[in-house]
Amino acid sequence: PYDVLVIGGGPAGASAAIYAARKGIRTGIVAERFGGQVLDTMSIENFISMKQTEGPKLVASLEEHVKEYNIDVMNLQRAKHLVKNDLFELELENGAVLKSKSVIISTGARWRNVGVPGEQEFKNKGVAYCPHCDGPLFEGKDVAVIGGGNSGVEAAIDLAGIVNHVTVLEFMPELKADAVLQKRLYSLPNVTVLKNVQTKEITGSDKVNGISYIERDTEEVKHIELQGVFVQIGLVPNTDWLGETVDRTRFGEIVVNNHGATNVPGLFAAGDCTNSPYKQIIISMGSGANAALGAFDYLIRN
Ligand code: FAD
Repeated sequence: PYDVLVIGGGPAGASAAIYAARKGIRTGIVAERFGGQVLDTMSIENFISMKQTEGPKLVASLEEHVKEYNIDVMNLQRAKHLVKNDLFELELENGAVLKSKSVIISTGARWRNVGVPGEQEFKNKGVAYCPHCDGPLFEGKDVAVIGGGNSGVEAAIDLAGIVNHVTVLEFMPELKADAVLQKRLYSLPNVTVLKNVQTKEITGSDKVNGISYIERDTEEVKHIELQGVFVQIGLVPNTDWLGETVDRTRFGEIVVNNHGATNVPGLFAAGDCTNSPYKQIIISMGSGANAALGAFDYLIRN
């Protein structure tokens, strides 16, 4: 069996595997797609110590770093079912079963899409999901934020300090964000809030040039010219496959303590699939390292 089996090959999983392998223990990593969300990222400017890089480049160096160690990399393999008997037993989609003394789950998350025409086409060409990552790319420009929950309103407040103007589009008749955030939002001079509107289309030619929406009470279609659209309607953790195996929040995030440990002894989690409040590459890597050290600590005590 493995000493540590890491499930997920994004920045959290890669970091966890390297930290585990550096303890000289038997380490494996199973990933549906090595690199995770980073593979879908164009420009990265907030990975500290690198002024600028691109997702695929960062994934290539992650892979190179992992290969420096004696780590079994099982790429293009999807985890299906996890149980704990004497050992953890992980069943893969292909039927294989892997056994391990401890497990680190780092299966990440995905942004919920609005699913309107233009969204896929203009991803990374004006359609963005992460204000911390891409906000500065829209300096001085006009942008929209789709979603008036906490993340949408936080994004709008954040962006208002960088861009020229922000339009918030909320489907429901009222914003769902906390009152204190709404108050801050409404105090900003360069923000417009549209409620009870449905996004119809993100328009553009080679990149985004506007957004069309339907006023739900009048059914009138309107169009605004702008250069960027931030979709903020939720981040969904890739944890459904775990069912009742481990404690999760009502959003599906795996609950971990400050050692990266879950409620199941020997089962750890790291990165975007956990209840960590902020989801970033550098944070995932730190939490992967943390969970691996937590797992090592568990192994030497059991
Ligand atoms: P992920 O990167 O999501 O990796 C999850 C891994 O688990 C993948 O290998 C996946 O294939 C695998 N997996 C999932 N389910 C299973 C399963 N059942 N079995 C086996 N494997 C599975 N952050 C920044 O810091 N800076 C940026 O500029 C930035 N830009 C971004 C741009 C975009 C378009 C997106 C989508 C995200 C961006 N982020 C950015 C966020 C950042 O990518 C994430 O915070 C980070 O990748 C999370 O790492 P992770 O390892 O926790 O999860």
